[in-house]
Amino acid sequence: MKKTITGPTEPGGGLRRNASTLLFLVIACLVLSLLLFCSGVEKRNRVQTKKEKTENGQTENGQIGSCEETIFAMDTVMTLRLYGTRAKEALGACVSEIERLDALFCVQKEESELARLNRDSGGAVSRDTAEVLEMALWVAKETGGAFDPTIYPLMQAWNFSSDVKKVPDQETIEKCRLLVDAAKLSFSKEKGTLFMPSGARLDFGGIAKGYLGNKLCKIAEEYGLSGAMYNLGGNVQLYGKKPDTEDFRIAIKSPKGEGSIGVFTGRDVAVVTSGGYERYFTKDGRTYHHILDPETGYPAESGLLSVTIISKDGMLADALSTALFVMGKERGLSFWKEHTEKFDCILVDEQERVTVTEGLSESFFSESAVTIVRKTDMQ
Ligand code: ADP
Ligand code: MG
Repeated sequence: MKKTITGPTEPGGGLRRNASTLLFLVIACLVLSLLLFCSGVEKRNRVQTKKEKTENGQTENGQIGSCEETIFAMDTVMTLRLYGTRAKEALGACVSEIERLDALFCVQKEESELARLNRDSGGAVSRDTAEVLEMALWVAKETGGAFDPTIYPLMQAWNFSSDVKKVPDQETIEKCRLLVDAAKLSFSKEKGTLFMPSGARLDFGGIAKGYLGNKLCKIAEEYGLSGAMYNLGGNVQLYGKKPDTEDFRIAIKSPKGEGSIGVFTGRDVAVVTSGGYERYFTKDGRTYHHILDPETGYPAESGLLSVTIISKDGMLADALSTALFVMGKERGLSFWKEHTEKFDCILVDEQERVTVTEGLSESFFSESAVTIVRKTDMQ
């Protein structure tokens, strides 16, 4: 093919290099570097201005302000990004709410409400605890106990909350297993009371961040934010929209390795992942993770590496991500078929095959092969 090339490109061709041309070149270079330097300073200034605006959360020329903060709470790193004219105020309210719920639900802190209920085998429950308990008991019942908020005796036996983790002996596991049974709790939301059998202990580790996500969305609403993305360590809670684009894009982490298995695009939902690859320890060549199967008392081995739940309700999504991880693909998908209006899910199995439910067919994109499960599919 004939190419049209402008300028001297043939070998030997080129500018005639005489002294005046060289001088001209040197001057031109100097002027160019000066211009580049100035534009760099200008750019840096612009970034600085943007940062100030970001911190103030104010609007300028009709633009939406935003702010971001990363904190450590509930035993994980949380990143909060808020968009709106009152973003900074709302951020303060979010941080206070995180600290309040952390203090209430942290079972290891003696002064927390959960620690008190565990010490006294029940007692008066706050509104927050009552709301979490109501959902936790519903999920426990519906999933046949795969999710159980009374898992704490087993968690303690495995020492998951301490730095010195251990594999408990079979006798201890059996003893603790008998104490894990949410059906034995007597709870009244109206009266705000709870009675637990002696030795039973609550643990909201599998649901508290989801409840928090819902609360943070209420704050976004109260402050009239246009959007927010709360990353609560494995739980991503989305509110409204991003200023530049309509939807948020969330990469779903690959349970093996660094990359992602695909990207979810959406808004006003919680995207919650449970997996055995974040918190675990290795003993005698075996790996033990922190999601326990109440049936066996051991870390769940259901053939799944990770479960991501997408739901409007962050608390439901959190409890279900833990539950479906315990239940495995087959049980998990038949559970989904009974509750299609409540959630959708992305399952990754040990062969790293990705299965998604039909509600995600337009919002989850992956470069690898994905199996889409429909409600009408044969059992
Ligand atoms: P993460 O907290 O790492 O995001 P999960 O939401 O799956 O992951 O919650 C795991 C936590 O839930 C554990 O640390 C423990 O506190 C609690 N947990 C473990 N197994 C169960 C279970 N079968 N049912 C309810 N809670 C559980
Ligand atoms: Mg969970």
